[in-house]
Order: sequence, then structure tokens, then C-alpha cells
Amino acid sequence: MNNVIIIGAGPAGLLAAISAKNENNNVIIIEKNERIGKKLFITGKGRCNITNYSNTEDFFSKINTNSKFMYSSIYGYTNFDILELLSNYGLEYKVERGNRVFPKSDKSSDVIKTFKKIIDDLKINIILNEKIDYIEKKDDIFNLYSKNNRYEADYVVIATGGVSYPATGSTGDGYKFAKNFGHTLVETEPSLVPLEIYSDYIKELQGVSLKNVEVSIKNKEKILQSEFGEMIFTHFGVSGPIILKLSNKIEKNRDIDIVIDLKPKLDKETLDNRIIRDFEKYNNKDISNGLKDLLIQKLIPVILKEAKIDENKKVNQITKEERAKLGETIKNLTFKFKSFRPIKDAIITKGGISTKEINPKTMESKIIDNLYFAGEVIDVDAMTGGYNLQVAYSTGYAAGRDINERT
Ligand SMILES: Cc1cc2nc3c(=O)[nH]c(=O)nc-3n(C[C@H](O)[C@H](O)[C@H](O)COP(=O)(O)OP(=O)(O)OC[C@H]3O[C@@H](n4cnc5c(N)ncnc54)[C@H](O)[C@@H]3O)c2cc1C
Repeated sequence: MNNVIIIGAGPAGLLAAISAKNENNNVIIIEKNERIGKKLFITGKGRCNITNYSNTEDFFSKINTNSKFMYSSIYGYTNFDILELLSNYGLEYKVERGNRVFPKSDKSSDVIKTFKKIIDDLKINIILNEKIDYIEKKDDIFNLYSKNNRYEADYVVIATGGVSYPATGSTGDGYKFAKNFGHTLVETEPSLVPLEIYSDYIKELQGVSLKNVEVSIKNKEKILQSEFGEMIFTHFGVSGPIILKLSNKIEKNRDIDIVIDLKPKLDKETLDNRIIRDFEKYNNKDISNGLKDLLIQKLIPVILKEAKIDENKKVNQITKEERAKLGETIKNLTFKFKSFRPIKDAIITKGGISTKEINPKTMESKIIDNLYFAGEVIDVDAMTGGYNLQVAYSTGYAAGRDINERT
């Protein structure tokens, strides 16, 4: 009987195990954590954005790096396939804005429980609390070494993840294994990552969460990309869904302005009329009170400083020019990009094992027979919206299916 060892019980490793299993092989998942799917647990803010419900062909425009490499595996195991598998084992799901799919319960733990059910049903063995330190191949057999044990395998899948959020177990071990086997690594960088900014207002703004705003990134007045939605100010700069999305469009060492339109639904004139109405209502109040219907409290002093308006002025003392400047600032609150947060804070690792040395149909190494890669360890990364998990399932499935056919 062939021994198949999958290193890593993340979504890629789980799918590899599930699709590899047949009656003639022995599939073992080895996971260094005390439980499976530790990163999966924190996905989608604990709700797990399982995949995306859009047409499968739309996925490729959402994959930022090596999307062509993903053709075969995504079509071989689609977003609808993973949903069918999970529903067959009782997971109910719902589709939200942007076609993002979540468990109906809003609990990522239910997704993990469902995977566990499938793994148990298929009688796949899981060894927890076991970290593989070294792999070698001798006479067609792989030897996998942990601190106290040696495991033998005919087939190995490396599904150890990237280097983001290392506390979940993804500490780059797979890169080390791959390198020892002669694989090339593409330098890792953070992707979908919060941004540090230069600002005098970091303290004042920390914790301010904005909804329905439009953020643009600009290079020398040229808009590179705009996104509408939610963001938050943090102790270092900015984060939240639209910031993470935009982070992907920023090239290192570029002069970037982050421009927030606080009222994207109001054009310049409509906004001015709105300000005039509020000014009539609060005519005898301080200007900071005059803006309380339009802006959240913590933003008012910042907007006034940026617009160079004395906050002790009365509404009825504000000049037409000052009002115009106010509208201008509300629609263009601008911060200078300083840097990306470190890779450990990134949602996904860009870079990893070069796709040039992996067969895109099977995920098998082109260098070492019977060695496979799956998931984030490979140099593929996608946008937010459930696409990264789909990359993990599809590559995991491709590897497992090939092993299944050969054992
Ligand atoms: C905060 C956050 C939120 C996210 N939300 C979403 C989302 O909602 N939707 C989405 O599509 N994507 C999301 N992602 C991305 C997604 O989680 C990853 O793309 C996905 O988990 C990658 O799967 P993987 O199986 O390749 O790696 P991982 O999930 O990282 O799993 C790798 C496993 O390998 C184990 N391992 C590593 N080295 C060893 C070793 N030497 N021995 C034994 N075991 C080892 C690790 O402990 C780990 O369990 C999110 C990421 C983060 C950080």
C-alpha cells in the first residue's frame, strides 16, 4: 500500500488529502499545530469567506500573480465544486455582497468542523503537534523527519502555507524543503497588507472606522486605483477591506498619495449645498458643531486643520472661500504612503515556490518525482473575496487527484 503524506492541515492540505484518498493508499496529514485549519479559523474576520460565487472564468482576473498557471487547477476544481463538497457534508452557506460566500452561521469553525467530518469519513489519519523539520528522498522513498520521528512516504504534498500570520503555523518551512530539493524561490513580499502613512493626526484618528468612503491611490496626481467601501485608521496608518485591496496596486518605493473621499456619493456642488444647509441650521454655533451632521466627531478637527479653518470660528464667520476649501478637503483628505506593514501582518504572501518548476495540471514538482506543492506555498496570490482559499482548494485537489490516479 502506498503511503501518502501531506504536510500541513490548512485548506490546501485538507483538499489534497481528501482527493488523494482511495482504498489502495494510506493518506496521513501531518500538522504542527494542536488542531487543523488554524489560519482558516481567522479568515473573513472569523466568518470565513469560503470562496466566490461569480463565474469561474472571472477568477483569473482576481489572481494577481501567475493566474495562467491556475487555469487547469481552477477549472479542474471550481468554486462550485468546493461548495458542493461542503454542502454534501451539511454546511449551509450564503452569498453576500461581491458574491462572497460565507457559512450561514457566520462561523469559520463550522467550515473547519465540516472538513473534519469529511476527513474522518474518508478515514484519513491526522497527526497533530508534529512539525516536519527535514525531508530527503532515497531510493524512491521520501523520509520525513520530525524531532522524534521518521516517516516514510511514496508521495509527499507540501502544503505548509506562506509566511503571513506566522502564529497560525505558516512560518515558511515549505520554502526550506523545496529549496533543498533544488526548487527556485521567488522572493516573498506582503500582499493585501495594511499601510503605514505619514500623518500628524495618527493619534487623533486611531480607531476611526469609515463606511461608504472612496479611497484612491495616486502617483503624481494620476489615479492608479480607487475602491469604495470600508476602512479604518490604526496606530500606524490605515487598514480595512478597501485599503488591503489597494495595497496590491502600490509598487514599492513609489511616491503614493492616499486620497479619501469622505462623501463619494455627493458631487462637489451637492456637497456645497449640503454644507450651506447645515450652516443655516447651526448659524450661531462654532464651526466644529456646524459639521456634526456631516462628519463623524473625530474627523472634524482634522478636516478643519487640513482646510486651515480656525475651529473657534463661528459658522456665520466662515467665508465662501473657506467653505469651498472645506468641501475640497472632505472630498480629498490626503495622506502620504510611508510603507507596507511587515509580511507577518499581510493577508497573503506574494512570492514562494516558482510556478515554472511545477506542473500546473498536477502540482507535481518538475524536479523531483512524486513531490507536490499546494496552496499559498506556491508563488500565486489573489485578491480578497474568497479567491485565495479557492487557490488553496484547487491546487490541493489537483495534487491529490494525481496521487489518487497513481496509487
Ligand atoms: C487574517 C486573514 C484572513 C483571511 N481571510 C480570507 C478569506 O476570508 N478568504 C480567503 O479566500 N482567504 C483568506 N485569507 C487567506 C487564506 O487564509 C490563505 O490563502 C489560506 O489559508 C492558505 O491555505 P494553505 O493551506 O496554503 O496554508 P495555511 O492555511 O497557512 O496552512 C498551512 C498549514 O501547514 C502547517 N505547517 C507549516 N509548516 C509545517 C511543518 N513544518 N510541519 C507540519 N505542519 C506545518 C501550518 O501549521 C498550517 O496549519 C486570509 C488570511 C489571513 C491571514
